[in-house]
Amino acid sequence: MQELIFVSTNKGKINEINQLLKEGFNVKGLHDIGHFGEIEETGSTLQENALIKAQTINDVFKINCFADDSGLMIESLNNQPGVKSARFAGEKATDDANINKVLNLMEGVENRKASFNTVICLIWNNVNYYFEGKIEGNIAKQPSGEKGFGYDPIFVPNGFDVSFAQMTNEEKNKISHRKIAVQKLINQLISFAK
Ligand code: IMP
Repeated sequence: MQELIFVSTNKGKINEINQLLKEGFNVKGLHDIGHFGEIEETGSTLQENALIKAQTINDVFKINCFADDSGLMIESLNNQPGVKSARFAGEKATDDANINKVLNLMEGVENRKASFNTVICLIWNNVNYYFEGKIEGNIAKQPSGEKGFGYDPIFVPNGFDVSFAQMTNEEKNKISHRKIAVQKLINQLISFAK
């Protein structure tokens, strides 16, 4: 059994990866290894932040690990909010405040193209690997739907006429940026185990 750490405290994300990997791997979260401190995300790209998180844990615990970082890139806003997605309207901003800031900045803007992006950095036997996932869509003129989190109520993926927040978790997770990146990670891990 290969043990590796997911640099995350989100039990839902950790369980999902364990289920997808099935046997051969035991993925643990930060709390399982007694790490309760914050890791500051000081990078200017998703790649840098994923690396900072994975490297921090690899340095301290000398164990194989991976970290993810995600964000919303809006074409007409020079790819903002990007790495600042969680705190676009200020430190500890609510999802509603972030959404309102986007909608205000985009009032009257025709080009509403955007994408959600995830980068995963895996450190495996001291070598770094990156996996990316992206889903393209448009920013709606107003929020709709109650499900999901973050910018889900204003993101309408291409090929759909509903927002991420109007989809069930299952529907969203089939097509999401995170799912695409996680699937690439899983394929790599399975190939390491062969
Ligand atoms: P994280 O790196 O997964 O913590 O994502 C950073 C921020 O990006 C979140 O706090 C959200 O604001 C935004 N975000 C990332 N993924 C999604 C998503 O699937 N739906 C909506 N917002 C997201």
